[in-house]
Amino acid sequence: MSTTETSSSLAWDRARKVVPRGVSSGHRVGWDQVFVKASGAYIWDDQGNKYLDYINSWGPIVLGHSDRRVNKAVFDAANTCDLTGVGPQVGEMELAEKITTLVPSADKVAFCTSGTDATMHAAHIVRAATGRVKILKFHGSYHGWSDVLAVGSSRSDLTPTSPLDTPNSAGLHPGATSDVVVVEWNDFDGLRAAFAEHGSELAAAFAEGYIHSFGCVPAQPGFLELLRELCTTHGAALVFDEIKTGFRSALGGYQSIAGVMPDLTAFAKAMANGYSIAALAGTDALMGHLGAYSKKEATIDGTYNANPYSIAAANKTIEILESEDVITRLYDLGDRLRAGITEAIAEVGIDACVGGLGSEWTVYFRKELPTNFRQAMESNSEQYTKYHRSLLAQGILEPAFTTGDRRLNASTTYEDIDRTIDANRVALRAAAE
Ligand code: PMP
Repeated sequence: MSTTETSSSLAWDRARKVVPRGVSSGHRVGWDQVFVKASGAYIWDDQGNKYLDYINSWGPIVLGHSDRRVNKAVFDAANTCDLTGVGPQVGEMELAEKITTLVPSADKVAFCTSGTDATMHAAHIVRAATGRVKILKFHGSYHGWSDVLAVGSSRSDLTPTSPLDTPNSAGLHPGATSDVVVVEWNDFDGLRAAFAEHGSELAAAFAEGYIHSFGCVPAQPGFLELLRELCTTHGAALVFDEIKTGFRSALGGYQSIAGVMPDLTAFAKAMANGYSIAALAGTDALMGHLGAYSKKEATIDGTYNANPYSIAAANKTIEILESEDVITRLYDLGDRLRAGITEAIAEVGIDACVGGLGSEWTVYFRKELPTNFRQAMESNSEQYTKYHRSLLAQGILEPAFTTGDRRLNASTTYEDIDRTIDANRVALRAAAE
């Protein structure tokens, strides 16, 4: 859609005058539209155009947009006890109790406001606990923007031979980023070699058990098990970033599917259907290092941590996820969609493939599913652009860049899915031209 002289383009111009690049978060660029309404599976732009939303705020919206039940719980909490800053809160205890019963590796849970907070706290804890400094992570995997982990997932300077451990942006502390060891995902030998070289200095390894940072890329059989074993052998903690998989791939997190237990887990996004909350869960031993200013303990101190609005939203969202068996619905919808897109790809005869799990999927414009970041980035971007534009013109909103993961929410209907499959057929033909 051309936006010249539309109110959307005027709104972008207005925003750019007062907000750097017009948005307060880097991943919000890529669309010309300005969206003004959201309900269920749909969002609307300021021109009145309606779109099936498969961004879902990059993960948080799991039940559906503007869910009345969650919103009511938030307003009730706000009208009852709008307290942060004084002692534990009832909702906070309830939420921690719920998470420790659902998530197999969680003895204790602490709350903060964003995924980046949670992974940063995890880094502080593992350093406090082990007295070591270095952290291992995987190429392409994004764990937030804090200096301690913002390495090795930049797309801008990626070439087939570029180093794995390039800082993600300017402004990071070189000392912090130089203490991060980056390994290619699913590289068994590379992982063994990294532990052989740095094992005794590693405080932890961080991993998305199922990678969504560059689409949908699972660990190959045995890779997570090897990672767990190497961490244990070398006295390093294993931290799972379940910020995208948590409360979406399974109520117990992806770890409950993989059967590999981390020592710490970061959650955020889907746990509160759009309200800003994150959680760091883990073993008693490690979580015991969080909470005070001392030489042995890492601090957690956010003014808005465990605020009653987000806590109420999380308690209500998890209650609905559990009582209405929402995850099963997400898998049914997702499986039907992936099967339909796979058929459409075969019909059109284009070199493309679809990967994913449950409610998440990614279409790659290459013959085979990627197993690591570089392969994912080889997805044909010209074909992707044509595909993306065609879907958008058909009222379907998806990521504007090749390796973006998309996800549906539980308000999506089977009719929506069938329409999406038909739209994919058209978009794949456009990409093939
Ligand atoms: N880890 C992963 C896997 C993520 O996808 C994200 C956000 N996209 C983060 C960490 C950072 O979370 P937040 O934006 O809430 O700080």
